[in-house]
Parts: sequence; structure tokens; C-alpha cells
Amino acid sequence: MLINLSDVTSRDYKTVSMKAEIEADAFVSKLGVFPIVEKTPLKLKIANMGKRELEISASADLTVVIPCSRCLEDVRKQISIQTVRKVDMKDTEEDRIKDLDEISYISGYTLDTERLVYDELLIRWPGKVLCREDCRGICSECGANLNEGDCGCGRESLDPRMAVIRSIFNGFGTKEP
Ligand SMILES: [Zn+2]
Ligand SMILES: [Zn+2]
Repeated sequence: MLINLSDVTSRDYKTVSMKAEIEADAFVSKLGVFPIVEKTPLKLKIANMGKRELEISASADLTVVIPCSRCLEDVRKQISIQTVRKVDMKDTEEDRIKDLDEISYISGYTLDTERLVYDELLIRWPGKVLCREDCRGICSECGANLNEGDCGCGRESLDPRMAVIRSIFNGFGTKEP
């Protein structure tokens, strides 16, 4: 949703509150495409603090589906957005662009709520997601999900010395008359 900020910017100490539906069904980044399966509307409060300075508060709760870092099973992860930012709506856009604190979801007098949600998700994106603390991951030999049981691979080679001893015993066994 695009929100026009010119009205609130031109009226000192005016505050507007609203809810904006989040349209995005997925979070798309260079890491991949992650479905957004639950979301509350974005609660937005825009307060004119005087001298063309706005305070923008926004919050929402989203549930995204991210693969487990070890076993790749889908994990539903809740991410809560909560942000309060002051924006100096200087008279000209050139002046605002020069300002290093310029934020990407405001362009001219337009606030893009989808962009705000995207930026906040990007900041809060979890680095490592596990389906459970003790996830056993996937077998490096056959690709089986080890949380669903032992696939049987690699048991003989867990301790190579034991395998050698076992083959020696087996060898003796076959040589016996
Ligand atoms: Zn896992
Ligand atoms: Zn295996």
C-alpha cells in the first residue's frame, strides 16, 4: 500500500494511525523464496513532531516458512516487526536524499508499506533455523532425514579400527577347517 505523507507532513503535530494489509505472499531474497503463511496487518502510526519531522512507528507479526539448516524440512518461523523511525521531511527531496539516514521505503511524500515490511524482514532474517535443537540432519551418504530414523549407512565405518579387527576375525573364521 502506498501512503501519501504530504497531508501529515504539512500539519504540525498531526498524528494518523492506520492498518495496512500486507500483500506479499513470500519473502524473496538472494537466499531464496520463503512463503509468508500468516500475517497480521501492518499497524502504522505517523506523527508529525513539528518542523517537518515525522515519527513513523510500524508493527506486524508474520510467519514465514524457512528450511531447517540441517535437514531442510520446512520450519514455520514467526518474525515480529517493530520499528520506530524519525524522518526529516526536508522541503526538497534533494535535501532528503543527501541525508544519509534516508530510508528506502519513503520516496518523495510516498511511504511504501510493502517495502517497509520487506526491509524489516531483511534486518530480522534469522541466520540459522533448526526444526529442533537436536536435529540430526541428513545422511551425507544417502540423503535420508536422520530424524525419521537411522538409515543404516556408515555404521560399519564409524570406527575404522573396529572394522579392521572384525575382518581379521572373519578371516580366521573362514580359514578354520
Ligand atoms: Zn532439522
Ligand atoms: Zn544413509
